Amino acid sequence: MTDTLRCFIGLGSNLDDPRQQVLRALDELAALDDCRLGLRSSLYRSDPVGPQDQPDFINAVAELHTSLDAETLLDRLQMIEQQHRRVRERHWGPRTLDLDLLLYGNASIATERLKVPHPYMSERSFVLWPLAEIAPELRLPDGTTLEGLLALCPMGTLERLPL
Ligand code: ATP
Ligand code: CA
Ligand code: CA
Repeated sequence: MTDTLRCFIGLGSNLDDPRQQVLRALDELAALDDCRLGLRSSLYRSDPVGPQDQPDFINAVAELHTSLDAETLLDRLQMIEQQHRRVRERHWGPRTLDLDLLLYGNASIATERLKVPHPYMSERSFVLWPLAEIAPELRLPDGTTLEGLLALCPMGTLERLPL
């Protein structure tokens, strides 16, 4: 693989054994063509965003080196989500897997399908704290430091889970 970019993927699940959903998704990311999985964060438990009458989430962030263009990478992420969502479609429940493209190298992207950096990453503790575990030195394309964002976004009830 030549000319790879360093990307970060946010993973989340709150249904059908969320821990296994996230661990399986990490394996599936590692198996993607033209991609190499780098560091992965611990698993975290977070309170659901929005309606509170649903299970807690399990979250993680992974580093992915890829030669794919951003839209093709999004296609691959959505294919993995679809594989996991088959279960959800039977049960009519909340999603079993969410894969967000948080950062794609140093690119800023704003198309109909794809916004990078992910629009809400800067205010989500379940993204920023796992990210800090694997890339504490990170800067967003606009120069904002992760360190600065963390100072504004306490861990709150976010829980890092033992391995
Ligand atoms: P949120 O964006 O608040 O995390 P969500 O993850 O629940 O919400 P989805 O239903 O998973 O939202 O995705 C809706 C659409 O968002 C996708 O179909 C995709 O085209 C678009 N999208 C835009 N930017 C991104 C990104 N950076 N990563 C993943 N999807 C994105
Ligand atoms: Ca999301
Ligand atoms: Ca998503």
